[in-house]
Formats: sequence, C-alpha cells, structure tokens
Amino acid sequence: MTKKPLILIVDDNPQNLQVLGSMLKEHGYKPAAAQNGNKAIDFVQKKAPDLILLDIMMPGMDGIEVCRRFKAEESTKDIPIIFITALSEIKDKLKAFAIGGVDYITKPFITEEVLARINVHIKLREALEKIVRVSITDEMTGVFNRRFAYEILTKQIANTKRTKENFIICYVDIDNLKKINDTYGHAEGDLLINLVVESLKKITRDSDYIFRMGGDEFLLIFPRIQLHDFNNLINRIKQQLNKEEIHNQPIDFSFGFAEFDYKQQHISADELINIADTGMYESKLQKKSQKNV
Ligand code: GH3
Ligand code: MG
Repeated sequence: MTKKPLILIVDDNPQNLQVLGSMLKEHGYKPAAAQNGNKAIDFVQKKAPDLILLDIMMPGMDGIEVCRRFKAEESTKDIPIIFITALSEIKDKLKAFAIGGVDYITKPFITEEVLARINVHIKLREALEKIVRVSITDEMTGVFNRRFAYEILTKQIANTKRTKENFIICYVDIDNLKKINDTYGHAEGDLLINLVVESLKKITRDSDYIFRMGGDEFLLIFPRIQLHDFNNLINRIKQQLNKEEIHNQPIDFSFGFAEFDYKQQHISADELINIADTGMYESKLQKKSQKNV
C-alpha cells in the first residue's frame, strides 16, 4: 500500500482546520494542522508534508512570509503551497504566485474545490518526483547515474568549505566483462554487473554513494572516511565478491582512488575523477602485465 500524502493545513480558524482536516481524511490524505506560521515552520522542520494549504491573514507571521521562508530553504522549497484566503483582489493573488504558491483558493471555500485542487497538485508532485528519480538513476542496476555523479561530486567539493572534511572517491572497472559476454552472452554480462553492484551495496554505508558511470565502470564517493578505513572497505568488497562467482569464473575489479583535501578547493569534479580513473587504468595494466609474465 502506498503511503497517504501528508497535507499540512495552516489556518488560525479552528473551524476551518476541522472541516478541511476531516474532508482530507475522508479522501485518503493524512491531514496535520498548525494554527499559526511559527507552528507551521516547527512542524515542517520535523516532518516534510507533501503539500501545504496556507492561510494568508493570520496573527503574527502572515502566510506570505511563511511561504517566503519555505521557498528560501533547499529542504522545503519544493513543497507545493496552495494559498486559501479571504483576500480576493488580483494584487493579492499575484503576490501569492510571485512568492512561489502553486494555487490560490478564496474563502468562503467549497470543500470539493479544495479537494480537486489538492488532487491535481499531489499528482503533479508525484509525476515530478518520478521524473527526477528517473533522471538520476541507472536503469539496469538501480544505482545513481553518471549525470548525478558530477552533480553530487560538485556539491561534495563545495560542502568541504563548511565541513572542512576530506573525502575519498574511487573509480571501479570490472575485470574481463567482455569474456563473459562473448562466452556466455550479454545477459550473463548484465548479471555480473548486477552482482558487483549488490556487493558494493552490501559493504558501503548509507552515506556513501554508488554511481554507474557507463558499461562496467562505477564511481564511489566516501564522505568522511580515513585512508586506512577506505583500504579495509575495498578489501571487504573484494572478499564479498570472491564469495560470488559466475560460471566458475572468479569475479574481480580494478580500482583507483583520489582523496580530496579540503585545503585544495581548486580541484574540480572532473579533475578528481580523472585522478581516480588514471589510477584504475594503471592498476589494470599492472594486473595484466603480471598475468603475462
Ligand atoms: P578489462 O578487464 O580490461 O576491464 O576488460 P573488460 O573485458 O572488462 O572490458 P572493458 O572494461 O574494456 O569494457 C567493458 C565491456 O563491457 C565493453 C562492453 O562490451 C561491455 N559492456 C558495457 N556495457 C555493458 C552492459 O550494460 N552489459 C553487458 N553485458 N556488457 C556491457
Ligand atoms: Mg572492464
């Protein structure tokens, strides 16, 4: 069963809260109520609603200011806000849209209309979330894709100005995928890629990132990790993979890494990836030359 969308109703009139709350409950939503702007802000800090119904005229902070604050914060700026207010002049409506509202309902409201507008904006939000999810995900493995890797790495570099913490990236390329493809078919090659992803997922932490950069190449980002912990982690991933096999062939990968030092903020995401990629390439060459002696 999918989760019921959480709708926060902000209104200083208890009767409106009650009427709207029971109407939403009746139609498959989870309503929450706040009687003023400060309470709304407190609520949203603890639990992000899927949509906010926001009165404009309230004692203390008015709805326009509440909306402005939500729109100014990265974590809350995408929550759709529908204004529901006794103000009905065109200048009020334009102001509400200019500040970032997605819709405007005038009081006295008709509950069916409020519900119809909420339904539209909840559907739009779900569609938007799906588009965002698809745009950052690698379809075959379900891990993040190359485009998102650059976005996250650029953010990670910028964050070190504030966190003053080093981090490590690791470039991984599966060994001998072509051989599996050529001998057993492409579907078995896909299986190998997914086995590697499962092993990476088992060993990495929730705060780490896994991206498929294309083909059999992956980028891993390890925020807040020390070099010796990183080495242990790589060994554990290799051990995990050694437990798996494909057609009696051992599974292995080659990797290279780069540590980002927060004092060297002039290095770009591209340059950092290049260092790790070059390291991976050299380690692969070394492995191959060892095999040939
Ligand atoms: P190496 O040990 O040097 O890494 O050689 P390799 O055989 O793994 O080949 P390489 O990394 O140079 O190139 C990756 C190969 O993986 C090329 C392509 O045929 C194959 N490949 C790329 N994407 C996919 C995919 O989605 N599925 C499958 N099955 N094969 C893929
Ligand atoms: Mg390879």
